Amino acid sequence: MSRSTEFGALAGNYGALDDCVLEHFDECFTGWGEARLAKEFDRTLEKVRHPFLHMNIYLKGLRVQRWGVLFTSRGCNKTCHFCQTPRFYRKPYQLPIDELERVVWQYKQEGVGQVIVLDENFGHFDDAATEVIDLLHYYGLKWNPLTRVETLHRNYDSWMERGLCGASIGAESLNQDSLDGAKKGNDSNQTRQVLGWMKRDRILSQVFYIIGFEEDTEASIRDNILELKEYRVDSPQIQILTPYPKTILYKNIEDNYGILDHDLSKYDSTNLVWRHPNISPESMAKLLRWSNDQLFDINSSFSTFKKIAFRSLAGLVTPGGSATRSPLWAGNIDLGR
Ligand code: SF4
Repeated sequence: MSRSTEFGALAGNYGALDDCVLEHFDECFTGWGEARLAKEFDRTLEKVRHPFLHMNIYLKGLRVQRWGVLFTSRGCNKTCHFCQTPRFYRKPYQLPIDELERVVWQYKQEGVGQVIVLDENFGHFDDAATEVIDLLHYYGLKWNPLTRVETLHRNYDSWMERGLCGASIGAESLNQDSLDGAKKGNDSNQTRQVLGWMKRDRILSQVFYIIGFEEDTEASIRDNILELKEYRVDSPQIQILTPYPKTILYKNIEDNYGILDHDLSKYDSTNLVWRHPNISPESMAKLLRWSNDQLFDINSSFSTFKKIAFRSLAGLVTPGGSATRSPLWAGNIDLGR
């Protein structure tokens, strides 16, 4: 799932760029992605650096854990119809391992609970991903990448052996027709398998899921959400299919169904802005609320709590481990903040 807008803006003015990017900058990247932002911030590309970025977990206003954020590559080689990333970055590229080591070493010194790897598609560059994983493993850091279902499926066992403690995946749908229509390239059976493994192994799961593909009906969405609920996802992110400008989806929808609302402030994945063949905007809004009510329930909170407790206890008995450094997650637990 694309988070290019938010994370691109977050780190775009700092991210390091490799020689290949520099060499082909004019022909390939002028006006695109972080290269454009670097220009706007009046920095030379050679001097841009990966920042130390953090996420924090709070308990009643007190910070109880800090996570480090790492970007190891930019862009994505896939062309999912709903996603702006291919348009935003064009070609994917890696960030230099030396620059990443500087950041990883800092996170090690800080004792972060985990390193969140926020590439659009971690593992796309096989060899580079292995180098990054070796680095994280060498420093004894747990890590949690944003990756594709098939990449996680292919690497699950070896990544688990080398510190994987959770993952964010763009499942997008459990309906194979919807996945195929969006050219997502996911196999819904692999999604089910991966979600089952993560539940079994008690590692944190974040799942991006889209409702309102053209094939969807109210009944199919309810069925799929109830199935997703069985996997006790720790951080489900349900979004309404939105035709973001410049995507292939936008053109498809404009040609075949029609855009209902051109006000871009509504394009935040919580509004149905196009004429869906089976579902009205009001019904879609209700379905989104219903989906979140189903997924953020007491059972999912309890499941997350058990995962954290299990991992903390495992940290106690693991040589070199630590009970307090197991990744915490409170997104689906009411802490009375
Ligand atoms: S895999 Fe698809 S949804 Fe994810 S970043 Fe790449 S193009 Fe976008």
